[in-house]
Parts: sequence; C-alpha cells; structure tokens
Amino acid sequence: MAAETAIWRDRLTPEERAQLGRGAGVISQRRPDVLVVGGGIAGVATAAACHAAGLGSVLLIEAGRLGSGATGGAAGLLTPEIHEWSDPEPFVELARTSLELWGELEQTWPDGVGLIELDWIGLAPDPDGFAPHQRPAVEWLDHDQVAELVPGLARPMAGALIRRQARVNPLRSLARLAAVLPGVATGIAATSVQARSGRVVRVATTAGDIYPGAVVFATGMPPLLDGLPQLDLPASRVKGHLLVTEPSPVRLPGTVAPVATQLDDGRLLVGGTFDMGDETPTVRQDVIDSILEALYATLPAVRGLPAAYQWCCFRPRHPDGRPVIDRVPGLDNAWLTSGHFRTGILMAPVTAHTIARWISAGEPPAEAAAWSSVRFAERRHIRH
Ligand SMILES: Cc1cc2nc3c(=O)[nH]c(=O)nc-3n(C[C@H](O)[C@H](O)[C@H](O)COP(=O)(O)OP(=O)(O)OC[C@H]3O[C@@H](n4cnc5c(N)ncnc54)[C@H](O)[C@@H]3O)c2cc1C
Repeated sequence: MAAETAIWRDRLTPEERAQLGRGAGVISQRRPDVLVVGGGIAGVATAAACHAAGLGSVLLIEAGRLGSGATGGAAGLLTPEIHEWSDPEPFVELARTSLELWGELEQTWPDGVGLIELDWIGLAPDPDGFAPHQRPAVEWLDHDQVAELVPGLARPMAGALIRRQARVNPLRSLARLAAVLPGVATGIAATSVQARSGRVVRVATTAGDIYPGAVVFATGMPPLLDGLPQLDLPASRVKGHLLVTEPSPVRLPGTVAPVATQLDDGRLLVGGTFDMGDETPTVRQDVIDSILEALYATLPAVRGLPAAYQWCCFRPRHPDGRPVIDRVPGLDNAWLTSGHFRTGILMAPVTAHTIARWISAGEPPAEAAAWSSVRFAERRHIRH
C-alpha cells in the first residue's frame, strides 16, 4: 500500500479527489456486462477501455479507495525507451505502444488524463556507462552538453538524452479516467468466485453478490480468491521509497536519472528504491536519508534541501519482472492482469486496450501471447 503521504493526492482538485472515493459501499448494479475487480491504474484503465469500446454496462469495485495500492505511490514516469537497456523487444514495443495510447487518451479523453511530456536524461561517468544503443531515440551528450542542461553536478558527466517521454500524477490520471465510468464502487472487496461450466457466474463481495457477464481481475498481485484455484501464479512484492523535496532553486530539464524529476513548482521527486526483502509497510528513515544523501552528493547545489513528502509502496512482481495479461485459465469469461512491477502506470493503456479487445472479439489479440500466464505453468504451486 502507498503511505498516505505521497504527494499526488495533495495535487488534485477537489473534484478529482472526490473521484477516488466514489460509490463508497454502494453497488449500483448486480448484473453488469463487465465487472472489473481492483481500482488501481490497470483496473480503472481497463474499465474505461471497456466502457469506451461499448461493451455494455461496466462496474468497477475496489477494496479501498481508487489508487490505494501501488498506483498511488508510483513516480508516474512513462519512459519506454530506457527499457531498451533492460528488457526484451516485445516488452519495449508494448511500452512504446502504451505511451502512444497515453497520448491518444490525452487528446481524446474529456479534460485529458494529465499527461506531461518531458525529456529523459541518463547520466553516466562516460558513454560506456550505457550498453551500446544506437537507436535514433537516443542522443549522446558530452560533458559540456550535460553541464549546460544540468548545472551544478558534483563532477563532469556524459549522458544520454531521450526526448518526448512523459509523466503523470498517477492519481490525477486515475481520477480523470474514472470520471466517465457510470459504475464505480469503493470500499468493496471481492471475496470469492463461483464458476460453472467454465464460466464465472457469481462474484461474492463484502457488499453482496454480483453476477457479471465478464470479469477482469486487476488486483495488482494475482487475485487470491476462493474459486480461482488455477491462479496460483508465482509473485512477490518489491518495496520502494520515494520522496519529494521542498521547491528547489536548481532547474532540471525533465527527468535526470538517477538524480531527480522536477515537478511543476520546482520540487524534486527522488527515488524509488528497490528494497528487496523488506516487507515492513512503513517508511524507513534510513532509506529516506540515503536517497537524500545520494541527491546531495550528485547535485551539491541542493544540499540541505529537505524532503516535504516521503512515502513507500510495493510493486507487484512476477519472477521475470513482466506482467501477466491473460484470460484466466479454464474460464471463458474471466481475465486477469497482474505483476506490473515498475511499469504499471506506463503499461495501463495498452493492458486495458488488449483486454477490452479480447473481451469484445472473444479471441486474444496477437500482442497478448507474450504476457500469458502459461509461461509460469511449470512453476505453478511454487510461491515466492
Ligand atoms: C516506488 C515505486 C515507483 C514506481 N514508479 C513507477 C513509474 O514511474 N512508472 C510506472 O509505470 N510504474 C511505476 N511503479 C509501478 C506501478 O506503481 C505499478 O506497476 C502499478 O501501480 C500497478 O497497478 P495495478 O493497478 O496493477 O495495481 P494496484 O495499484 O496495486 O491496484 C490494485 C488494486 O486492487 C485492489 N484490490 C486487491 N484485491 C482486491 C479485491 N479482492 N477486491 C477489490 N479490490 C481489490 C487493491 O486495493 C488495489 O487498489 C512504481 C512503483 C513503486 C512502488
């Protein structure tokens, strides 16, 4: 869960904030055409895509408030190109497509989704600090060019520049997407599922039963519900800390990795850490101190700038660090998406689009094959 002190909620308008607690405890329809379980970015984007695709009545239920899981604590960076250095091509392609879809949503959604275009600069002591990467998306910067763009670095650095990436306030995007949905119910958890003849016929919740035409589980981690025995997918959670400083006198261009991302009023968003094995739900001051110390060491001009917000949350992760986007094995009318790890905000529109098309056509879109849960089939029953 994201600690309550993430900056994002404070940045919302009252109308946007009200969206996050919509329909508290009230289920408006018991027989929706599509039920989405989970009100993080994946669930809300999927419900919005199903609604926009005309798949009939859509109901979204969320155990807490919208965005109370990993989504509310994310950094909100949408930077597909950097995954060229760490992930296989199908993943990078999926991420690129998703950023394009974010752009389309910004243009077509009522009031947009709060997309902010930015440049990404990755610093390295020398260009060899990055694996060779000749794609046109990347411009190499020498020490002088970096010094001009990022004044005040402790030592000369070369860097890589990637233009036209983006970021969002994840809760603003969530609120804007949710605003068009007629059926949202918060404070309601799915508790079990009843299937008959290969179809989900009933989803039991803390506020009574729902009888959906189709159901999508977007619960961050794979759903652990009675009645879904096939879903024993290996998954774990990786804690991360982030902080936002008081407004900084130093101006950064967009996001400068691994230093910081500058927000509109000059504050610096710094982190997130990968705190492997730390299952404690609270912010650890030693981790926050080490994030600040690394910032001051790289950018001495901001030494002493205090953190105004500090928080932590958990990334849902499958063993390969990539998501599952699939139909639930053995069930004709149930889908799931889980394990979005460190790119769930980025991947939300393409995930939503894939599932909505699959529900609509009854057949999996071609791009879904790589994200099937089948890749863990031989590992089922091993929990991490
Ligand atoms: C420190 C940090 C930084 C990050 N930075 C980025 C970033 O810059 N860019 C990026 O793309 N990603 C980033 N991420 C990753 C991103 O936050 C996640 O991948 C994404 O939020 C996952 O979204 P989700 O909707 O799948 O899950 P969640 O946001 O966890 O949503 C799942 C929801 O389902 C609800 N739920 C669970 N079970 C039930 C049930 N039985 N009934 C009803 N509701 C239920 C939960 O309450 C929760 O709200 C970051 C993550 C962390 C921790």
